[in-house]
Amino acid sequence: MSQSAVTRLYLMQVGSMPEYQIPIVCYLVQTNDGRNILIDSGLPEIMPEGEADFVNERDVIEQLASIGLKPDDIDTIISTHYDGDHAGRHGSFTKAQYVVQRAHHLDAASNPRFADIRSQWDQPMERIQLVDGDTELLPGLELIETSGHVPGHQSVLLRLPQSGTILLTIDAVPFGEGFTRDVQDDGSNPDAAAIRASTLKLLDLVEREHIGLVIFGHDSEQWKGLKKLPAYYE
Ligand SMILES: [Zn+2]
Repeated sequence: MSQSAVTRLYLMQVGSMPEYQIPIVCYLVQTNDGRNILIDSGLPEIMPEGEADFVNERDVIEQLASIGLKPDDIDTIISTHYDGDHAGRHGSFTKAQYVVQRAHHLDAASNPRFADIRSQWDQPMERIQLVDGDTELLPGLELIETSGHVPGHQSVLLRLPQSGTILLTIDAVPFGEGFTRDVQDDGSNPDAAAIRASTLKLLDLVEREHIGLVIFGHDSEQWKGLKKLPAYYE
């Protein structure tokens, strides 16, 4: 039987929106051949003007250091999208290759929503791997295109040796209460039809793949019960 190349998943809370108790999070995936893959990088060190609702907590650099990793040990950053609470430290990882949906990267180039932290995500093209739609990045790690929150948003499906299949919805489904077939749009997404289609796509995926754990993007209630770095899923 072939074994998954993905061996560990770490979860870290790197910031929050205190008023709404919303956690800002990112993830580290490790493989059996020694790769360190970061999924998102959290808030920027200095918050852009107008983003006073967000506060940094123990940031991604500190949390990685606590398990013996330097920024240069990160070889890949899966960028789910370029919102400031997800791509805020991309520029700190100078050895990493960034993996992003082509539709998202192209949209971001002219979308003012992503202008604040452009210096973080607008890296030399030789360091950016553009992908189109659902993509198996390596055995046990699939990118799932889930537009709606933003064009070309991506979620991540992981297959771990013991924990089984884990879905990171990211901002396609930020809160568990929204993960239903009759999801009502709350008006916060630019494309309500697309967010609904993406929610249904992920619900279908969960049924088909017998996914044991679905981790929502910003769900404080769920987050309390999850393992956080230095603990991990394996
Ligand atoms: Zn978010």
